[in-house]
Amino acid sequence: MNSDDFSVISAKKQTNDKNLDLFLRPQNFEEYYGQEKIKENLKILIEAAQKRKEALEHILLYGPAGIGKTSLAHIIAKSTGANLKITSGPAIEKVGDLASILTNLVDGDILFIDEIHRLNKLVEEILYPAMEDYVLDIIIGKGPSAKTLQLNLSRFTLIGATTRIGLLSSPFRSRFGVTHRLDFYNDGDIEKILNRSSKILNIKTEKSGIETIAKCSRKTPRVANRLLKRVRDYAEVKRNGIIQEQTAKEALKMLEIDEIGLEPADKRLLKIIIDKFNGGPVGLQALSAASSEEIDTIEDIYEPFLMQIGFIARTPRGRVATEHAYKHLGIKYDNKKQNILL
Ligand code: ADP
Repeated sequence: MNSDDFSVISAKKQTNDKNLDLFLRPQNFEEYYGQEKIKENLKILIEAAQKRKEALEHILLYGPAGIGKTSLAHIIAKSTGANLKITSGPAIEKVGDLASILTNLVDGDILFIDEIHRLNKLVEEILYPAMEDYVLDIIIGKGPSAKTLQLNLSRFTLIGATTRIGLLSSPFRSRFGVTHRLDFYNDGDIEKILNRSSKILNIKTEKSGIETIAKCSRKTPRVANRLLKRVRDYAEVKRNGIIQEQTAKEALKMLEIDEIGLEPADKRLLKIIIDKFNGGPVGLQALSAASSEEIDTIEDIYEPFLMQIGFIARTPRGRVATEHAYKHLGIKYDNKKQNILL
């Protein structure tokens, strides 16, 4: 298979995963499992705004990919009866793009900007007065004859989502009235999500089968749903169509996913830190060069989960593979050396 074939397959897989996201998206707070504190806070925020007949405050949601940020924005819009306009940081290239989005909003609309850390600076600055005073400052012309035109905007709510809160400037962050960090899920909540998805997809499951998938889901709903679908395929083709414990184990083994959800790419990254960099510390750039993975991919996809399970630690001098990582990979941990490096 050449690399073109691979990119076609992965593009197709991404579309399939997107469709799966749409299909399985929770429709209301009851179907949105976990994140209890955040839900509670948002419900109060919504009710208070409704009582005062005001637009909701701007909300910033951050957390790893597939953790439920977009789903939450949909639910907030549904609960308030607002229209939801969806865009993303990279899609708004020019100030004019943002101006046309903002001027088309009506009172109460919710604008959802995914990957908001990828907005360019000029666009970001246009957002400041829009968020604060619902006005749009447009500069017409250039040089001494340039004039600023101010347009009034409707009272909208901005919901921003990001995997990288650290990349947002503090003036930008401070313009959101509410900021929530979405955490990884516990196995129990992932099981609830899997049970709901099984019902929607009409998949027969056993409790132990669901528990097996949940343990390998990287504590992330999107991963759980994706695995459920893959295991279903295996169960239908190779077994009796029911997701039982043994079937789930066999399917996950075939997908090269281990009992805690690590994929070959995670292990490769850990092994590079251990073998090539003596366990670390290693800077992101060096790690990216050695692994041929993009820095963004390491930071957005691999690292959050590996840090969450305590396999990678961040130190001022770079990333370090921890003793847990060595143990899991069956590599002897040289305690003394690590202590010196840390
Ligand atoms: P993000 O925007 O953080 O990348 P999404 O909101 O797109 O994540 O979530 C991916 C998918 O995972 C959703 O389509 C939905 O099926 C599922 N999902 C996410 N969070 C939850 C949740 N709390 N309860 C149920 N399903 C969820």
